[in-house]
Amino acid sequence: MPFPAGYLSRSPRTRDAAAASAPLAPATSRADAARRDLLDRIADFVTRHDLAMTASNLATICGALSGSHPELAGAMMRREAAGEPIDQAWLDSLAQLDVDTHANVAAFETLSDTLEYAIARFAQTARTAQTETSDHRGAIDAQIATLAGPDGLAQVLDLSRAMLVRIEQIEAAMARSEAEMERLRESLAHARSEADVDHLTRLPNRRAFERKLAAAAIEARETGAPLSLAFCDVDHFKQINDRHGHAAGDRVLCALAGSFAEAAGEHCFVARHGGEEFVLLFRGLRKEAARGRLDAIRRAQAARQLMNRETGQPFGKITFSAGVAEVTEDPDTRSALARADAALYRAKQLGRNRVELG
Ligand code: GH3
Ligand code: MG
Ligand code: MG
Repeated sequence: MPFPAGYLSRSPRTRDAAAASAPLAPATSRADAARRDLLDRIADFVTRHDLAMTASNLATICGALSGSHPELAGAMMRREAAGEPIDQAWLDSLAQLDVDTHANVAAFETLSDTLEYAIARFAQTARTAQTETSDHRGAIDAQIATLAGPDGLAQVLDLSRAMLVRIEQIEAAMARSEAEMERLRESLAHARSEADVDHLTRLPNRRAFERKLAAAAIEARETGAPLSLAFCDVDHFKQINDRHGHAAGDRVLCALAGSFAEAAGEHCFVARHGGEEFVLLFRGLRKEAARGRLDAIRRAQAARQLMNRETGQPFGKITFSAGVAEVTEDPDTRSALARADAALYRAKQLGRNRVELG
């Protein structure tokens, strides 16, 4: 859906003045004008929707109006078009979904990029030093050849040999540094992959899921293949913690994660979205087919008996409820999460241990 004129660009109120001055204005004042225009539009937005001037609100609104976060802009535009209120509760849900996640991810990526840059610079320095020492070594070798002739100066020879020993030591130190750098690089690669893994269940985490969803949605829209997703939430999980303790609850989550991963197979991506919530991505499936697959997983899970191995007590029946939505039904990929969430809510309302379509 195209954004309406003025949503991502200048507001009508300031557009004319800015356009009139733009061709003659120097670059800095054009940048100033653009900044002032963005601030005007943010202020308009805050006033129009009667919102508080909090840092979080301003970050969300700025992300949408500046064009740096088109998904947010799309969501706001649709909400305005539908005549639904852009109020604090709605903005909070957006901020939680988008801005916080993006801020955390951005912080991690900045950190790892910095580290990567430091490593690359160190590698360059090491290579330069190595070239220089080997140049020196060549020069000294040549000098020794001259001095070792009939008029050879034994003292100078000793000195040169001592220098060679020193150069060899430097080269060895450089080689050790290279090895250390390689280990650092491996640690960084490991940290990067760990950032995508949920530490309790070892399933991919929400960050990994968000990236997978974005990539799968682009692919599905290009190929025209359907794509569906499901939100699953364990039923009455709090009771498991209350009755058996948090550690036992953790073991149940791990067992459930294993069952999801095994049942989902190769063509379905499973992740822990957080808490006792799991998300599944069904490539190539319409929502009805995805619901069929998930319902089979749900039935198998409901038939299973889990035992608390610490106490020998049965956990009883552990079920989950789920909502399924088709990502490719709407151009806004993230709207599928909201539809699946709403369907999950309905599944809970209708008595749990069931899968509903969004
Ligand atoms: P409902 O059927 O409505 O989903 O009920 P519920 O009890 O599952 O829902 P609620 O959201 O009230 O409780 C979820 C619980 O999951 C609360 C929280 O303590 C627990 N939980 C979240 N993450 C973890 C975790 O990593 N380990 C353990 N043991 N418990 C967790
Ligand atoms: Mg929950
Ligand atoms: Mg629950």
